[in-house]
Amino acid sequence: MPSNEQVLKALEAVIDPEIRKNVVDLGMVRSVEIAESGTVDVKISLTTPGCPIKDHFVDAVTEAVSALEGVSTVNVSFDVLTDPEKQKLMQRLGGAALPDGSLAAVANVICVGSGKGGVGKSTLTANLAAALASEGKKVGILDADVWGYSIPRMYGLGATRPPVSPERKILPLESYGVKVMSIGFFVEEDAAVVWRGPMLHKALTQFLQDVEWGELDFLLVDLPPGTGDVSMTLSQLLPQARFVIVTTPQDTAQKVARRAAEMAHKVNLEVIGVVENMAGFTTPSGERFPIFGEGGGEALADELDVPLLGKVPITMPLRAQSDAGQPLVFENPDDPAAQAIRRAARGLVALCPTELPMLASIAPEPPALEVIKPSGMSLPMA
Ligand code: ADP
Repeated sequence: MPSNEQVLKALEAVIDPEIRKNVVDLGMVRSVEIAESGTVDVKISLTTPGCPIKDHFVDAVTEAVSALEGVSTVNVSFDVLTDPEKQKLMQRLGGAALPDGSLAAVANVICVGSGKGGVGKSTLTANLAAALASEGKKVGILDADVWGYSIPRMYGLGATRPPVSPERKILPLESYGVKVMSIGFFVEEDAAVVWRGPMLHKALTQFLQDVEWGELDFLLVDLPPGTGDVSMTLSQLLPQARFVIVTTPQDTAQKVARRAAEMAHKVNLEVIGVVENMAGFTTPSGERFPIFGEGGGEALADELDVPLLGKVPITMPLRAQSDAGQPLVFENPDDPAAQAIRRAARGLVALCPTELPMLASIAPEPPALEVIKPSGMSLPMA
């Protein structure tokens, strides 16, 4: 029969796949009981009750302990770390975030919102991500624009189903080094999906909790215009998420965009900047036409008392490259629109302390494997 010490030594081979340290060093071994019969009971303390990696621990603990001489049976059970224990674990990790969800290793979550559709919110999200990636940042895009999911197309990704990991996490697809997850991957082409509030809440929850984002400096969330239904969900799941508002220059658009900012404020989410899109068109001969008016971005930024991160002009390559699935910033970084977006991205970097991992505060019992299935849509957990 092995001794307590021998079992603990063996358990050092059991690695928490999210924190990438062994469970003994992490203080996650709650108890070890060794019976005369050679049965060993090991209790592991998890960070969250709904931890989807239980199976991994059962297999790894069984394998490690049953290799010891005299062990006939290994039983693995679980409980949950108390809040003070979690604190201790945090300290042990040097202040790093706990894997309280898939967003544990995401430093900054930036929601890109607008008051209405068609202002170029998705185009800017796609290209801001490209600009951040060009600056050497690790970037992901969560396309939550259920009514106009267009990020997959802008990144040349078709309707491919993202794979699911052995831990039953959905793996984002990758294009140009940017991780992309979209509601569009799960919706049948041309299917008319009617989204009601609770469904939207579930879909977002699943995309935030069940997607294996890994380490990211920035996760950009392309929100549906208006953001009324989703802002509550976001504030619950991501109290640290911050907003960038996209508007076109005209007065009326700016007023509509302000409502998106008001929604964010209502649920205590911070708006950190405004980007004005479609800020004029310049002909090849140099003549500039303010097609959608002037000044809306500045006015909104002043009103919200946040910086105007950029004024992105109308250029044909921005539209064409988006349609071709090749983000402009990667393919043609000198285009005037690409330059403005790159400046906006640098502004964003300046506003965001990327080195601080955020602690995602996720609802206590995540509906991890609950399936969201409006007609025409299915998630891989189905
Ligand atoms: P939203 O996400 O706000 O609904 P999109 O990003 O889908 O808007 O943009 C709407 C259309 O406008 C797309 O065809 C896009 O390519 C085009 N577009 C957006 N911004 C610009 C721009 N600055 N110059 C040229 N075309 C643009």
